[in-house]
Amino acid sequence: MSEPSALAGSGIDQEPDYEVVIIGAGVTGIYQAKRLVDLGVRMTVLEANGDLGGTWYNNRYPGARFDSESFTYGYSFSQEVLDEWHWTEQFSPQPENLRYLNYVVDKFELRRHMQFGCRVKSMVFDDSTDAWTLELDDGRKISTRFVATAVGVLSAPTMPRFEGMDTFEGESFHAFHWPHDPVDLAGKRVAVVGTGATAIQLIPEVAKEAAHLTVFQRRPNWAAPLNNAPITEPEMAAIRARYDEIFATCARTPGGFEHEPDRRGFYSLSAEERRALWDKLYDEPGFGIWLRNFVEIFIDEDANAEFSAYIADRIRQRVDDPVLAEKLIPKDHGFGIQRVPLETHYFEAYNRDNVELVDSSETPIARVTPTGIDTTDRAFAFDVIVYSTGFDAFTGAFDRIDIRTSVGRKLRDKWSAGPVTYLGIAVSGFPNMVMLAGPQSAATNFPRGAELAVNWVTPLLVYMREHGYRRFDVDEAAEAAWCEHVQEMYEGLLIRKAKSWITGYNSNIDGHEYGKTRYNIYNGGGPKYAKRLHEVAANDYEGLRFR
Ligand code: NAP
Repeated sequence: MSEPSALAGSGIDQEPDYEVVIIGAGVTGIYQAKRLVDLGVRMTVLEANGDLGGTWYNNRYPGARFDSESFTYGYSFSQEVLDEWHWTEQFSPQPENLRYLNYVVDKFELRRHMQFGCRVKSMVFDDSTDAWTLELDDGRKISTRFVATAVGVLSAPTMPRFEGMDTFEGESFHAFHWPHDPVDLAGKRVAVVGTGATAIQLIPEVAKEAAHLTVFQRRPNWAAPLNNAPITEPEMAAIRARYDEIFATCARTPGGFEHEPDRRGFYSLSAEERRALWDKLYDEPGFGIWLRNFVEIFIDEDANAEFSAYIADRIRQRVDDPVLAEKLIPKDHGFGIQRVPLETHYFEAYNRDNVELVDSSETPIARVTPTGIDTTDRAFAFDVIVYSTGFDAFTGAFDRIDIRTSVGRKLRDKWSAGPVTYLGIAVSGFPNMVMLAGPQSAATNFPRGAELAVNWVTPLLVYMREHGYRRFDVDEAAEAAWCEHVQEMYEGLLIRKAKSWITGYNSNIDGHEYGKTRYNIYNGGGPKYAKRLHEVAANDYEGLRFR
């Protein structure tokens, strides 16, 4: 870490321990580290976990896997990585994803720039020295000119607040913290609380192993088949041959996938023609059912209702018990209004004799007891309880660090009603902090957005070097305009009604009630977002103030 610094000469490397500290060694932090190492920047990565991998280090529950096509999720920046890596499945499972990230880090010798088991407790920007001081859990203090947060968007898990949770005598954990040692579920009575994307992946797997599985569902979620398959050597060779085309398409589509919306016009086609598209999409791999669909599905209540009715019928065809099927069909929102989970035999799991659904909207969980869970109706005995109860999305990972400045500003206070940012990357009043894949950046296939952010932030640091600047802050008016734009982008879309993390709803956190919308994401899509970033950079980073 004593390499000659590419930022040297600007004065920004005189005092602090580092020029840049990256918080988080997941998908985003790894790539940012690579770019800074290439520039010879004096930097370090602080990772709270015991090793790298971020979301793929933590989420070890059975069934955890990409629901992006593996080859659209991998990094695009290195031809060697693209040439060497073989994805074994269309939607790669968690152990392979973690192996991939380790392979990339080892290949570029990034591990020596990473410090593990380092949870950042607080970070304070000193207005007089233009540097941040980070305090770690172990009391260590580290100073740096810039902080790049790569803390993930769904990395602050939230537990429910049931009475008696700490009295349970069996094993219980949030799915995000699924134990690293294999959990032997054979012969066990297992409870899963929640039916979001995580639970929908893990329920069919747990059902195969456990003696009995009880799912506590408060609201059903729309879900559609993942249609995963292995990738053979010849298929992988064909994928490698078209990587340029794949990434070009991902850069062109709103979601950063190969899936492009159908723009033929919902109402220009007959009901039969629409149904033909849906029959095809239902059997195709990945998010096509959501993202190759008619654009009207996202904006027009009637179009959405017709498509939701179609998916409801598909669910009815897959669940043997018609009463149970109705319970699994959402009635309070349409398909695609919340983030769509993709599933592998999820609905069929309920046809098994060892799987039971408890409708928590009828008989809510009253308390957790030493032996299980009491609902308002009945007492259940369990050996294992899995809380698959979601995340304090986007802002949670920031709120868990005390981020403030020497002049008395606290990020937690500024964001109490939701994130306020410029371009999803910087925050007025919090100089020299860049957020990679932060709140209010484009919601896309994650690594595509992460690479975009890193590819914007890295030249910003170089620009500052070239101009001899050691501090940037955000113009308040530019920030306000961005926030207004982010809010506008919600208005035309049905997702503005989502009772989920997309709008900041989380019943386990005070202040995150439904109706108090938190504008967490930029809904304009990747290409528009990238265009705006490029314009800002081309106009000497308009909206940023340097000195
Ligand atoms: P989630 O979608 O927020 O789902 C949480 C679930 O827990 C919901 O069913 C919720 O019910 C329920 N719940 C929460 N608190 C509860 C309480 N106190 N009592 C009863 N039920 C409660 O969380 P998630 O499933 O972890 O998914 C979050 C996001 O992670 C996904 O949307 C996706 O973006 C990402 N994810 C990605 C992948 C992947 O890429 N392969 C896999 C998994 C997750 P209500 O609906 O009633 O609130």
